[in-house]
Amino acid sequence: MPCEKWSSILCWYRCAVRIYSSAARALDPGGTAEFHTAWERSEEARKACDRFRAALLEHEHRHGCQDQAGLESSTAMRHG
Ligand SMILES: [Zn+2]
Repeated sequence: MPCEKWSSILCWYRCAVRIYSSAARALDPGGTAEFHTAWERSEEARKACDRFRAALLEHEHRHGCQDQAGLESSTAMRHG
């Protein structure tokens, strides 16, 4: 069973991914200023995704609550 903390980090991560996705959809090559604003927004969202993803893996690693949850492939990818 995933622990409560892990579940809440996952929830934030999913939320950040959704924001990133909609920010990326707003990238329109039509206007330079608009594009720049949308780009900044999507970059911020992307960084948030990265942070939450790192927090998720960090928690897994420290807490060991995901040891047999089949997430080994994602962890392996991270470490190469
Ligand atoms: Zn945990």
